[in-house]
Amino acid sequence: MASQGAKLPPHVLIFPLPIQGHISSMLRLAELLCLAELHVTFIVSEFCHNHLLKHTNVESRFACYPGFSFQTISDGLPEDHPRAGERFADIMPALRRVTALLFNKMMIEKKWFASSTRRPITCIIADGVLSFTADFAEENGIPLVYFRTASAVFFWASFCMPKLIEAGEIAFTGNDMNLMVKSVPGMEDIIRRRDLPGYCRVNDLNDTTFQIIKNETQQSPRAQAFFILNTFEDLEGPVLSHIRKHLPRLYTIGPNHFHLTSRLAAATKTENSISSGSLWEEDRSCLAWLDSQPTKSVIYASFGSITVVTREQLEEFWYGLVNSGQRFLWVIRPDSIMGEDSGSRPIPDELQEGTKSRGYMVGWAPQLEVLNHPAIGGFLTHSGRNSTLESMVAGVPMICWPYFADQMINSRFVGEVWKIGLDMKDTCDRVIIEKMVRDLMHVRKDEFLRRADDMAKLTRKVVHEGGSSYTSLNSLIEFIKSMVSN
Ligand code: UDP
Repeated sequence: MASQGAKLPPHVLIFPLPIQGHISSMLRLAELLCLAELHVTFIVSEFCHNHLLKHTNVESRFACYPGFSFQTISDGLPEDHPRAGERFADIMPALRRVTALLFNKMMIEKKWFASSTRRPITCIIADGVLSFTADFAEENGIPLVYFRTASAVFFWASFCMPKLIEAGEIAFTGNDMNLMVKSVPGMEDIIRRRDLPGYCRVNDLNDTTFQIIKNETQQSPRAQAFFILNTFEDLEGPVLSHIRKHLPRLYTIGPNHFHLTSRLAAATKTENSISSGSLWEEDRSCLAWLDSQPTKSVIYASFGSITVVTREQLEEFWYGLVNSGQRFLWVIRPDSIMGEDSGSRPIPDELQEGTKSRGYMVGWAPQLEVLNHPAIGGFLTHSGRNSTLESMVAGVPMICWPYFADQMINSRFVGEVWKIGLDMKDTCDRVIIEKMVRDLMHVRKDEFLRRADDMAKLTRKVVHEGGSSYTSLNSLIEFIKSMVSN
């Protein structure tokens, strides 16, 4: 397709998996590219776009980048589909069934989003699990870069799936979840069965989600081996060197929320907050509550946008938090409690009392601001990729209660390798929760805070001029520019 304007900048199409964590991460990349004066078309599901417009400032935020625009597309699910918990798995087949065809049609009908002020798309940056974009890119000769928003350790374990199957390490035989896994090079002494990506917990290797993630990961090298990860060299270096044997053109630009904060500050010479990209309404009243709490006295509990809990699990967490005697700020999304008795059983008096004196609850928090508030001393998290990086940047130690996917392996690295928290996976018991909260916030507080602070310093180093992520992002931008011949 012919270029329409010799002097126009490159035009990048960014297409995330339409869920909170992936959208936040890729919106941050979009803004980083806008700051470099590239044009960006950002494809987002109608469902998520409506939520973004309702609950964030993205519209006004991106208005200052005339080269940026949103394009909406169906995610293939009905409006009232919950898109969370076990039903979350419906999204991948729906995208392949419905969205892939719509995407092809849209690209052709809209002439690759060309206009008098914008070139047709010159490069596609696609979520690494949306291989239908690679099909289109290959058929039409458009350069493709994949962005995997999850951790490098998750990507590498997923990439090694054929080896794991060949070695008989999955599907699991027997019940010993503590058995060490030997077929992921570089992790032989680190991960157990229970730390493998959540989708490995299947009895049948024909399981739809297992097959989709395995196959999407295997086709990664087709992206002409151009690949972006939201990580940094000092964090996941050993695993990155394994990945580079298969994907030598790897850009490590993370933590990208902090990278954006840093580049915005450099561009505008002022302190800037970045857009939350939240799909839910933030309850900012919790910030005023935090203002009245002592320094590092509050544990923040939040399990992200997809995790659901049973009423029993909710009560275990609640008792654990109250019995720990620590102050707590807890996010409970309205759609996050499953089961028939989710709202009907009365709340025991002792929980109500304990919450009134030391706790605060909201349906969705301004998480970045919360984690950076001086009153926060710990984070009880589901170990989502963004939450983990946000906690690292803020220097906040974690208690990890992973729910699925990359969270299983992220939490292992937090506890065993980076040693900036405790891994509580596969248990949900008030006594253990109470003990871990006390350990993190009181008994071993200094030790965890020291290591978390060292980690925060590292993140500061990598996104500033000369740092590894800074240099890597510049290379990516140069690469995108080099793909435009005139
Ligand atoms: N988040 C938020 N408020 C909340 C809970 C989460 O703003 O109350 C944000 C959080 O800062 C993060 C994203 O939602 O950027 C969640 O992404 P993550 O990868 O941690 O988990 P996921 O939701 O994908 O499981």
